[in-house]
Amino acid sequence: MMTNEELWKAVLGEMELSLTRANFTTWFKNTSIISKDKNAVLVSVPNGFIKEWLENKFNKRILQSIRNHSPETREIKYTIGRPKVDLVKQDLSKMILDAELEDKPEADLDKDLDKATNLNRKYSFDSFVVGSNNELAHAAASAVTKNLGRLYNPLFLYGGVGLGKTHLLQAIGNKISSENRERRVFYVPAEKFTAEMVECIRNKTIEEFKNRYSKLDLLMIDDVQFIAGKERTQDIVFSTFNELYGKNKQIILSSDRPPQAIPALEERLRSRFQGGMVADVGAPEFETRLAILKLKASEKNYELTPEVLTYIATHIQKNVRELEGALNRVVAFSQIYNKAPDLKEVKNILNTYLSTPYRKTSPQTILKSVADFYSISLADLVKRSRKKEVVKPRQIAMFLLREETKLSFPEIGQKLGGRDHSTVIHACEKIRGEVSVDEPLKQELVLIKERIYNSFDK
Ligand code: ADP
Ligand code: MG
Repeated sequence: MMTNEELWKAVLGEMELSLTRANFTTWFKNTSIISKDKNAVLVSVPNGFIKEWLENKFNKRILQSIRNHSPETREIKYTIGRPKVDLVKQDLSKMILDAELEDKPEADLDKDLDKATNLNRKYSFDSFVVGSNNELAHAAASAVTKNLGRLYNPLFLYGGVGLGKTHLLQAIGNKISSENRERRVFYVPAEKFTAEMVECIRNKTIEEFKNRYSKLDLLMIDDVQFIAGKERTQDIVFSTFNELYGKNKQIILSSDRPPQAIPALEERLRSRFQGGMVADVGAPEFETRLAILKLKASEKNYELTPEVLTYIATHIQKNVRELEGALNRVVAFSQIYNKAPDLKEVKNILNTYLSTPYRKTSPQTILKSVADFYSISLADLVKRSRKKEVVKPRQIAMFLLREETKLSFPEIGQKLGGRDHSTVIHACEKIRGEVSVDEPLKQELVLIKERIYNSFDK
């Protein structure tokens, strides 16, 4: 007698044979048999998409496969549930991402890499969106390309992860090297610098290593905070720095924090890193996020519906890499399902991002944001007041509570002066209908959501 786990493993083994890797991963990861009786098997799946798909497209094959081992089985039921902890590896959105990556041949990832400079050609100034968050860094980067080694040396860019530091570094490098192929340009992540250095010490080729770096016209060391606490690496960075600096060769560094905040960085390096131009890169604001999304989508020849565009830009705030990740997931979804996701599906796809704490909101925040936005008092909004000017804000509050929280219709009615759930349903439907035809209303909602989600940052 097979255990449920053995049985499901056998089924998966058979399914795997008949599907592409990407498809198999997409549809069967995080599935398991959670119970089985004489006639029926209950299969747990991670979400509604997978459930629907397995029911409609794979049910017959799965049933056949199960019956090979358990002939009396008549029926499979699918249920959305948490897979057992040890089986949890990925969620749907991650799967979609995997599917997308798996479809991409290895060579494709490398084709943009220039061996001589270690630069990725896809990073350019043209593909970089300038906003108030990166204005200074961008201006400094651009100035450096016009005054190599003579204006800001070194240029030190710092900021949180996924905000465009590497992009800017590489954009400079690509511009300099494409203008003049004679120029020796080299980009290196500090981690790689260290690893190669260690290797060269071991092979007794460290002099060659130093030599190679001292001949450059432009050296970029990315994520330089990584050398902190590493004595030998700091030695070599220090001597390389002095060598290049003395010849007016350009040095550009990036870090996740400013020089004075890098712990265990030798003072002599700290003061050199601070000696040129230090510029920060922050998180983009809403308009910039919109612009970045539009640009990235058009690079992929993909068109986002305005609704989805606004949704992503509103909810993903802290990090451009996540913004891109969200877009990739949406694109992958479109490829897998052959249609653009609607808003509900987008929410599902982006679930992992949106469920992180800083993007959570509360009913109270929503009510307060709506009241503030329409300059009415919170009391008027939630009480049984019949004042005409509160009718629309109240409907919008109901709509947003429904969209942005897990509250049920009756619970929303409770929060708004004990109204009946049918009133809430009516309001939600009304607003949802209007949003699709009423551009100003749509904008209002975007702005209110901005308030809702930014209020947590303050
Ligand atoms: P960091 O090095 O700061 O961690 P990256 O430079 O790797 O961040 O940026 C992460 C991703 O976001 C990259 O794909 C990059 O192209 C993109 N990105 C970041 N900022 C911008 C921007 N202002 N315009 C366009 N793309 C951006
Ligand atoms: Mg980086």
